[in-house]
Amino acid sequence: MTAPLIDPFHRPISYLRVSVTDRCDFRCVYCMSENMSFLPKKELLTLEELDRMCSTFVNLGVEKLRITGGEPLVRRDIMTFFRAMTRHLDSGALKELTLTTNGSQLAKYAGDLAQAGVRRVNVSLDTLDEQKFTDITRWGRLPQVLKGIDAAQDAGMRVKLNAVAVKGFNEDELFTLTEWCAARDLDLTWIEVMPMGGDMGSDYRLDQYWKLTDLRARLAQQYTLTDLSESSGGPARYVRLEETGQKIGFITPLSHNFCESCNRVRMTCTGELFMCLGQEDKADLRAALRNHPEDDLALEEAIRAAIRLKPKGHDFDYSRQTVGGTMSRHMSHTGG
Ligand code: SAM
Ligand code: SF4
Repeated sequence: MTAPLIDPFHRPISYLRVSVTDRCDFRCVYCMSENMSFLPKKELLTLEELDRMCSTFVNLGVEKLRITGGEPLVRRDIMTFFRAMTRHLDSGALKELTLTTNGSQLAKYAGDLAQAGVRRVNVSLDTLDEQKFTDITRWGRLPQVLKGIDAAQDAGMRVKLNAVAVKGFNEDELFTLTEWCAARDLDLTWIEVMPMGGDMGSDYRLDQYWKLTDLRARLAQQYTLTDLSESSGGPARYVRLEETGQKIGFITPLSHNFCESCNRVRMTCTGELFMCLGQEDKADLRAALRNHPEDDLALEEAIRAAIRLKPKGHDFDYSRQTVGGTMSRHMSHTGG
């Protein structure tokens, strides 16, 4: 038996998020600057390397794999990788294969994803207003994303919307988004804006910060909220709206953190492992992988060494009207 991955704070690491590309067909204002420069393709792990990397994590006890980016579905031939991961679902070692996407390519790939064993997909959508959607994503088109959501549901996948709560932007859509999701049987999770991408100007992020405690209080004026005890080991906490039966999630890294139960690590498309989204500590797994093409033991040891360095938690903090703990990395780099 291979020993499971346990970090210094006795947290078992069973969840890996993998960014398969830093590129994207959108330029969301809280995520990227308009003129992003991207990594040269040779820096990226190949699909075969991604397979080897993920398979090694699965051998070490990772049971949940979330593919993200950048936009994972713009990576060339990414379906080859998804199909390759199906073998770990079939063997029972992997319990869940999933992805976070902006939805732009879902109409094209929903069927293939479902066939590869993807049962649930998170789609990021902050507004149902076409103009506002283009404003916040800069390059996106809402109808294309809505078609993608339909295609995912038609293919039998459970869809959860992730909406970033942006002050003065989608506050007025709290109830329309909630009702829209209830009518379509979509789960909905709200995310607080995190101070990523320091070069975009941190004052900007403070302006955008809409505290989810406020959002929740507004919801409670119209609905009866029941706290649910379930947790995915991440920062999300859920409530049920009794009137509609739907589940609403809150990801509150700023106003409340849940680092004590964190079960996850994140790998970038170049094979850097970030042990915490909100800290700079990282390990270069690509070197361990490329320097030992025939031998996974060195890679396993590099992963174990990295997990031994997982910090207790992040230091994001907006509490003193300045932004503390800002990360210079963009979210698209680490993979949200
Ligand atoms: N492109 C895919 C998408 O948009 O779903 C996957 C990658 S994206 C970086 C993952 C998630 O991070 C999205 O839900 C996005 O809204 C969120 N995100 C990006 N920048 C953020 C920020 N500064 N604060 C909070 N969430 C952010
Ligand atoms: Fe692209 Fe997702 Fe970032 Fe928007 S949030 S720019 S869709 S990676």
